[in-house]
Amino acid sequence: MNNLLEKLVTLQKLDLEIRKLGHALQQIPKKMIEIDKKIESTKLPFEEAKKKIEELKKKADILSEEAIKLEESERELKLKMPKIKSNEEYSALLKEMDAAKKRKEECEEQQLTAIEEIEALEKEIPLLEKKYLEQENGVKGEREELEKEKKEIELALIKKKEERNQVLPSVPKGYLDKYTHIASARNGLAVAAVKKGICQGCFIGVRPKIVQDLHYGEEIIYCEGCQRFLYLEES
Ligand SMILES: [Zn+2]
Repeated sequence: MNNLLEKLVTLQKLDLEIRKLGHALQQIPKKMIEIDKKIESTKLPFEEAKKKIEELKKKADILSEEAIKLEESERELKLKMPKIKSNEEYSALLKEMDAAKKRKEECEEQQLTAIEEIEALEKEIPLLEKKYLEQENGVKGEREELEKEKKEIELALIKKKEERNQVLPSVPKGYLDKYTHIASARNGLAVAAVKKGICQGCFIGVRPKIVQDLHYGEEIIYCEGCQRFLYLEES
């Protein structure tokens, strides 16, 4: 076979392999999501319980702060008492103090409810975590397998790209541009074999004269049907 064609066939083989590896690499995150989905039924309740505890703790803190503030204002209102002159002012103050006290009690009650909820959840957490870890453990092998697969693909890609870089300098730029152009227009296939007089790229018959020229292998010939580089497949 013509030396240039030989290089182009090698280049095409490498490009197709690189493309295949690239697709395989793209599948990895999707497969990871599939594994994540398998453990969702135990992971979500565990994580939600942890989140809920955090929320309740924040809520309890806010209520506690509010209760302290209300207690202070109750005390301040009490200090005003001796200075009061009229009955109206007195009953207004009492009303205000009573409201502060009521609100403070509400806060304390809600705080207590939150603390009880936290305690109940904290009791549930170990079991939820156990179930989650069991399931996570079940997919550990699958995750490791996938990580391994990813590394293997990445290594193979590096290797194939290196091989490609080694082939490139031996292909004249004009032909390389042409190859790239045809490959991008024809689904990665820029070079086609002629088998029993048929172009394997477009499956159109090749004229006997072309087959003869290909046999001599002295010139670069393009398919009249699909414009791909042609080479003769012996056998
Ligand atoms: Zn063709």
